[in-house]
Amino acid sequence: MAELGRLLSDAHPLIRLPQSVEIDRALVNAFRDIWRLSESDGVEYGCNLFLNGGRVVPGRTLKGGQSAVDLQTDANAALDSYVGDFHVHPYERKMGPEAAIGFSTTDIDGDVQIRRRERSLFVHVVFAGTRLYMTLIPLSVRPNPSEPFSGHIDTSVGLNYIYDKGHDRAWQQGIQARNTAASLDTKIDIERQLWDSIPGYAKAFSKANKAMNKAFADFHRYGLYIGKDAHAIRPDATSYALFKKAGPT
Ligand SMILES: [Zn+2]
Repeated sequence: MAELGRLLSDAHPLIRLPQSVEIDRALVNAFRDIWRLSESDGVEYGCNLFLNGGRVVPGRTLKGGQSAVDLQTDANAALDSYVGDFHVHPYERKMGPEAAIGFSTTDIDGDVQIRRRERSLFVHVVFAGTRLYMTLIPLSVRPNPSEPFSGHIDTSVGLNYIYDKGHDRAWQQGIQARNTAASLDTKIDIERQLWDSIPGYAKAFSKANKAMNKAFADFHRYGLYIGKDAHAIRPDATSYALFKKAGPT
């Protein structure tokens, strides 16, 4: 098992991606603190990641909105020590503990386009309920593919599920009520009631998102890693393991 900081420090242009990666406890704790903040405020938070003496350390915590956070990538990626970023998808409060939504297609498209020739490998992490999703992107991955990727399925599969199960009316009314609600807390409460009224939705959406993440990783030939129960790891654990689910073998 490769330790993340060492892996990023040693990476050379022809690197073979490992089957599992270890993240040290200090970094997992930093992720968890940002996750707590994000779930309690109901908006996305994140930070950039830097290499410092062979360890990956978080930069300043940045606050975003309900569905995105601006990580100021251009300015940060210009720094020599930049290795990637981390952000939270705060779905647990509005969708329940079964929601584990990894990278969105927008997240992935942005990540794949980051280029710095002096670094061979980039890391991106998203904290999503009971899962930690991580990608390792070698410099050699295919940039801006000319053919459209056909795996943009995460939201449409979620919608198909709603229609197949006959919840389209409840869904339309719920979304309208959420959009016209005055406060963020009310919006989150309305969403929680809506998703609770559609049994199996959180699980179906998470499953579709995971399939999309895997298909995208195979398409771009970067490594996708997933770890379980990220905020429930034992207090005495010194590190956290993520296992490769897709990408080059
Ligand atoms: Zn995201």
